[in-house]
Amino acid sequence: MAAGRWADSAEDAAIAAQRKKEKEEEKRLKAEKARQAEEEAAKRKIQEEQAARAQQRDDGNERAGKRRRIEDEDMKSEVKKSNLLRAPRSEWYPSRNVSNFERLNHIEEGSYGWVSRAREIGTGEVVALKKLKMDSNDTGGFPVTGLREIQCLMEARHKHVVDLREIVVGNELDEVYLVMEFLEHDLKTLQEDMSEPFMPSEIKTLLLQLTDAVGFLHKHWILHRDLKTSNILMNNRGEIKLADFGMARYFGDPAPQMTQLVVTLWYRAPELLLGAERYDQAIDIWSIGCIFGELLTKEPLLQGKNEVDQLSKIFELCGVPTDETWPGFKRLPNAKSLRLPRNQQNMGAVIRAKFPFLTASGSDLLTSLLSLNPATRPPAQEVLAHPYFAENPRPKSSAMLPTFPSKAGQEKRRRHASPSAPVRGNAPKIAGSDFTDIFASRANEESGAGFQLKLV
Ligand code: ADP
Repeated sequence: MAAGRWADSAEDAAIAAQRKKEKEEEKRLKAEKARQAEEEAAKRKIQEEQAARAQQRDDGNERAGKRRRIEDEDMKSEVKKSNLLRAPRSEWYPSRNVSNFERLNHIEEGSYGWVSRAREIGTGEVVALKKLKMDSNDTGGFPVTGLREIQCLMEARHKHVVDLREIVVGNELDEVYLVMEFLEHDLKTLQEDMSEPFMPSEIKTLLLQLTDAVGFLHKHWILHRDLKTSNILMNNRGEIKLADFGMARYFGDPAPQMTQLVVTLWYRAPELLLGAERYDQAIDIWSIGCIFGELLTKEPLLQGKNEVDQLSKIFELCGVPTDETWPGFKRLPNAKSLRLPRNQQNMGAVIRAKFPFLTASGSDLLTSLLSLNPATRPPAQEVLAHPYFAENPRPKSSAMLPTFPSKAGQEKRRRHASPSAPVRGNAPKIAGSDFTDIFASRANEESGAGFQLKLV
């Protein structure tokens, strides 16, 4: 029995040991399962979070895309509703420090900034650094011109608009720099150093590139408001790029009320000089006309000494406005007290006489760009399709344009005196100007006597 008891108890012990082992194994498997389930859950959670973040990003982009589309389509109500500047990008990140760049040489001091050539230390790439000037009239704070320049340049991504790479900051709060692609020349300095004007085929190429860029801006509801040869940069591959968006701003249809004190005097349209508070793309088209004339002769076309003189130079070249050619111009603030000559000049004839080497189609284009009535100036798309560009000599390919030694690569650009962009403030009133003599004085001018304007 005892053996049997012993045997029983030994057997029992073995069974108990086996059960214990099985239980332990069960426990281990359970724990393992739980750990796996936990892992799965954690993995799922991460994936869900990632998906949610991606969805958020997509929604944000879609919203931004939608917002941009709405802005494009409904700029009118946008402009009306608010004067606030819109941030063009939905992503925010801290700006890098200017110490990432090594200053090579100073290029130019403009109205709204100091421009230097610099090298990015990390990549060795040469760039242009524009340090924004803080507005001395403002009570401190960031200048609105700088904000608009950044906003418009970020929106205006085009092969003939200078590429804004990034914004960097210095150690002081008022040190803000635009980092842009560097271009060797600007058309003004270039022309001053050339012994002959560009050839007709080259002028066509330059004009097409410029008008392409301006057309792009207008399509995106941006007015440049300071088109001139010194703001047109050129690289050694025959490409021009529009720069200096310090005066640029968004506009709408119908045009909002805006300051008339825009555009450097020599390139300023007559409606601005006559005090129009509402104006549109046609002011940039007028400037393109002035640039076209300048490219043909290498000399700025209309070099007025002041607003009144500018207007009289315009009337001399383009004739005086009438109710037929420019309905309603007399209602413009500065037009009310103008005294204009009765005898009308044939505008086309004056332009043809001034540019004897320009073909009939070329002078037709120039005449239309310089229409006194802004409504009859062609939009950029129409300019691009003008027969002048299709006739011989055909526009030269950019690669065939001449190359020039870079001035900006060596020292400060040499520049002859010429007016700069207007600074913000009140536009001067041109009251009671007497233009009755302008055509008589042209006859005097031809015979040697200087032209004089009378203020009454
Ligand atoms: P501002 O707004 O102060 O008038 P700009 O942007 O017109 O300043 O720049 C002044 C000058 O600096 C231009 O006329 C041009 O000669 C030079 N410049 C500007 N941007 C560049 C650039 N990206 N590359 C080379 N030169 C430049």
